[in-house]
Amino acid sequence: MQIRSAALTDVGLHRGHNEDAYVARPEDGVFAVADGMGGHAAGEVASGIAIEILRSWPVPAGNAAESLGATILEANRRILEHARQHPECAGMGTTMTALLVDGSNAVAAHVGDSRLYRLRAGQLTQLTDDHTWVQEQVKAGYLRPADAARHPLSSILTQALGTREEIQVDTLQVDLQTGDRLLLCTDGLSGMVPDAEIEQILSSGLTLQQSVQRLIDRANQAGGLDNITALLIEVS
Ligand code: CA
Repeated sequence: MQIRSAALTDVGLHRGHNEDAYVARPEDGVFAVADGMGGHAAGEVASGIAIEILRSWPVPAGNAAESLGATILEANRRILEHARQHPECAGMGTTMTALLVDGSNAVAAHVGDSRLYRLRAGQLTQLTDDHTWVQEQVKAGYLRPADAARHPLSSILTQALGTREEIQVDTLQVDLQTGDRLLLCTDGLSGMVPDAEIEQILSSGLTLQQSVQRLIDRANQAGGLDNITALLIEVS
């Protein structure tokens, strides 16, 4: 299988900094997005530390899920360490959603609410579970999924890197077929553009580059309240 990708990140219309970061190594099948948070640009530091680890990451020969999960835990450790040494960064944190594609198999690992979607035969499926308070309410049956996205507390994370020593990394296996598209994105996209519209954009015959540009444009047209990152991968 051949892997191609395109990615864009945009500050949006309301923020002074872009605290999102991403890495795309299509030749190695390594991809990730991170959405940083924290005052005085510390969010950029946190997401930057997380993504930097994967830039030079040696692709594991063995258990991919375990390696990816361990890498996220290492990112957490480095962010906490950096915050201890730089008081101005205290309280910074980041999400991280990482993907390793190997032939017709992929493994994802994530903490936070940056999402992985798969488009197959024109149908979009969200593969990751948001680590958010509203998602917990949905799971418990207290909130309808339709009300979760627009909920005033929708951005409250139950887990993020940099917040504590013990974090729970979710890992999942993703099977791939020729023609599948995978989208990694931050909540500046998924919180602004409904899934149905993302599905329509990804299946409308646009190139990868055109698709990510359209996603960013739509998030900004919808208000651009947050930083926006879209990383799109296609297997053929
Ligand atoms: Ca965000």
